Parts: sequence; C-alpha cells; structure tokens
Amino acid sequence: MKLIFLGPPGAGKGTLAVRAVELLKIPHISTGNIFRAAIASKSELGLKVKGIIDEGKLVDDRTTTALVREALAILKGGYILDGFPRTIPQAEALGEFVSVDKVINFDIPDDKVLSRLGGRRTCRSCGANYHIVFGKPKQEGVCDSCGGGLYTRDDDRKDAIAKRLEVYRSQTAPLIAYYRGRNLLVDVDASPSVDEVVANFKTALGL
Ligand code: AMP
Repeated sequence: MKLIFLGPPGAGKGTLAVRAVELLKIPHISTGNIFRAAIASKSELGLKVKGIIDEGKLVDDRTTTALVREALAILKGGYILDGFPRTIPQAEALGEFVSVDKVINFDIPDDKVLSRLGGRRTCRSCGANYHIVFGKPKQEGVCDSCGGGLYTRDDDRKDAIAKRLEVYRSQTAPLIAYYRGRNLLVDVDASPSVDEVVANFKTALGL
C-alpha cells in the first residue's frame, strides 16, 4: 500500500507512522528526517537546507522532489510518505512517477498543534518523537527505542512554529482539496491520544 500522510506540523504524523510501520510492514519515508540527517552529517544538502528549515520555511520543490524520487526508486513494495508532498507542484511531480492508494489527512485544531510542538522532544539518532507532558520517555532525555539523546528541534521554537503553520495554511492545505478531488483523501481525527488515533487510522483504512 502506498500512503501519503498529510496534516499540519504537530498533527502526530511521525508518531503515527511508527505505529503504521509495525501494522502494515512497510517503510516510512519522512522528508523532514532525511533533511535532518543531512544537516547532522553536514553534507552539501544539509548545509544548503539548514537555514531554511530552522526558519520554518519550505525547501524548494526541485530539491525535495529529486530526493523523494531517489528514495522511492530503491523500494519495491508499499511505503508511507510523511511530509511529502507539501505543495501542489510537488504533488503534480509525484503523480508522474507514483500512483498512491490513499492520502490520510490528519485533522487537528491549531491550539493542539501549538501545545504539541511546544513540548516536543526528538531523538537525535532515530528521529522518534516524545512530549514533555503527553508522551514522556521512560528515562528523561533518552530515547526509548534506540537510547539516543533527545533535543528540541530548532524549528519547534515559537517563531518557527508560527511560520510553519502559516506555510502549512498557504502551501500545503490546498492539497486537501487536490486529493479529495481525486477521491484519494481519507480524514482522520488526530486530536485524541495516540492509541485512539491509531484506531481511527485503522478504521479509515478498513483494517
Ligand atoms: P517535518 O519533519 O516534516 O516537519 O519537516 C521539517 C522541515 O523540513 C519542514 O519545515 C521543511 O523546512 C522541510 N521539509 C520537509 N518536507 C518538505 C517538503 N516536502 N517540501 C519542502 N520542505 C520540506
């Protein structure tokens, strides 16, 4: 199954992807994780995108689409695309080389997004997400899955969060109508606890 996870930053797409990977046995491709790994390794790509990402803006369509095309070329079965596409031109480019089965639209009000992003902590090694109130790790500052150190992403700071929400509304939210018009969109209420969102997700996919 080829799925796209759509939704504002902080909707819990990454957290749900971890559960969906277990459930569906397909890989999770997160453009944000790919960019953060490039930044950590100080590669040419990482140096190019660091400032853009820290400010909460989008990396250009050409760079992002080329990256995704390369990542998908080596995959044979299904996958979850998380954080891509984020603009109509990206969706159009993707449509030229992939036919997706469903687009999951994680629906969540702004106030929840703000509280989730404000308290988010991310693993430097594997990218897993935690929250200082809603999803604490067993040991403070340490990732449950891989033992990596947890940190606050630069783009989870207040000014960058506001920018990311503005970018989401202007550039990414139009994808909801784009995919609804193609009968691919399924809405999932992303406000409740992770277990409830997983249940909503399974229902949406008819699992
Ligand atoms: P995420 O982890 O999905 O929140 O992505 C973190 C940041 O990476 C975003 O705020 C963008 O700066 C960049 N990014 C991730 N995916 C894309 C994309 N599809 N198009 C452009 N920029 C992206």
